Amino acid sequence: MKPDIIIAGSGFAGSVIAYLAAKAGKRALLYERRNHIAGNMYDEYVDGVLVQRYGPHTLHTNRKEVMDLLEEISGWEPYTLRARVMIRGKVTPSPFNFKTVDDYWPPKQAELLKERLQAAFPGEEKVPVLRLAQCEDSLVREYARFLIEEDYRPYTAKQWGIAPEDLDESVWNRVPVRLTYKDGYFDDAWECLPKDGYTVFFEKMLSSPLIEVRLGEDILAHLKLQGDSILWDGEPLSVPMVYTGALDELFECRFGRLQYRSLRFEYETLEMESYQEACGVAHPKAKGFTRITEYTKLPVQTGLGRTVIAREYPIPYTDGAEPYYPILTEKTQHLADQYRALAEKLPSLYLCGRLAEFRYYNMDEVIWAAMEAARVLGF
Ligand SMILES: Cc1cc2nc3c(=O)[nH]c(=O)nc-3n(C[C@H](O)[C@H](O)[C@H](O)COP(=O)(O)OP(=O)(O)OC[C@H]3O[C@@H](n4cnc5c(N)ncnc54)[C@H](O)[C@@H]3O)c2cc1C
Repeated sequence: MKPDIIIAGSGFAGSVIAYLAAKAGKRALLYERRNHIAGNMYDEYVDGVLVQRYGPHTLHTNRKEVMDLLEEISGWEPYTLRARVMIRGKVTPSPFNFKTVDDYWPPKQAELLKERLQAAFPGEEKVPVLRLAQCEDSLVREYARFLIEEDYRPYTAKQWGIAPEDLDESVWNRVPVRLTYKDGYFDDAWECLPKDGYTVFFEKMLSSPLIEVRLGEDILAHLKLQGDSILWDGEPLSVPMVYTGALDELFECRFGRLQYRSLRFEYETLEMESYQEACGVAHPKAKGFTRITEYTKLPVQTGLGRTVIAREYPIPYTDGAEPYYPILTEKTQHLADQYRALAEKLPSLYLCGRLAEFRYYNMDEVIWAAMEAARVLGF
């Protein structure tokens, strides 16, 4: 098949563009270097339990356009992610909320602290911990210190493998502290999971006869960058190419490697209905692992008489490891800018997705970016 567009990567970035291209009557050729589709959303059954192989993913968005597109492809069901943190031998909600105050402060002092929090941040329902730490009220600062020392600092250090101070402030702000009793990890208008799991959803998204998927094929083996043009299998590229892989790899890492944090998952099948009270429980001070995900709770799969858990160990990103989270520091942002400048010189190249744009993207943001790219490409 002679394609109208070439795409590298079958995560949401690549697959949404392939879907929209096919919907517009264009032929898409999609290379995926893993031996399966769906990028980091890939799931499969382990001992009868649907497990997400690259970590737990809940779709959450405030964009109706994103939800409309997803529903057009296949069904989604509402799901509210509840997460917990293990501190001093007991679990408390994540994001921290007023229950956390009740969990660790004696009743009278807890009441006072909640009043002082509301007085210090009137009308605000959630506040980044760094703002709490700078509050004029010493009681609020003491609460912030507790949260930072028991959770943010040890968790961040373990998760990222660098001093928390070196990280972009946006990373610290990702999970603000709630000044209410509201439980639930996200606040978006839509929070859901694909009815039959992500892999089935991606199969439907890529089911058009106009889409050819080549699994186990690295697009870099087919590409050669020559000055301001791209050779594809030895011929000058005459159609647009969307690349969703790692930005530095596209340019043979010529300025040095971009930094990522990788992960290792340790799975265990347990002969019990339920292992922990929530789908995700973070363990900031445990040795090596950051959290435990219980897959029977994501999506809810009860009555099996067994459950599957995964301990998540952050590890350095070395050869052979998967790039999971871009490590955003001043230095890495500068390096990414250098690669972006090279990409801009290649008119048929479009970068999309968390690896190619070197951004900490949620799924809905990636889907939106892919919809935007498709609009630019005329699909
Ligand atoms: C542990 C974890 C949990 C997360 N949880 C959530 C969540 O709950 N909610 C949420 O919204 N987001 C979550 N995210 C973010 C989410 O994973 C990303 O938004 C999403 O994966 C981005 O899709 P993508 O297509 O950009 O990248 P990916 O899903 O990584 O897809 C990129 C694909 O490109 C392929 N590829 C790379 N290089 C090449 C090449 N040279 N040739 C061919 N193929 C190539 C890769 O194999 C991969 O399949 C989480 C991320 C992590 C790490």
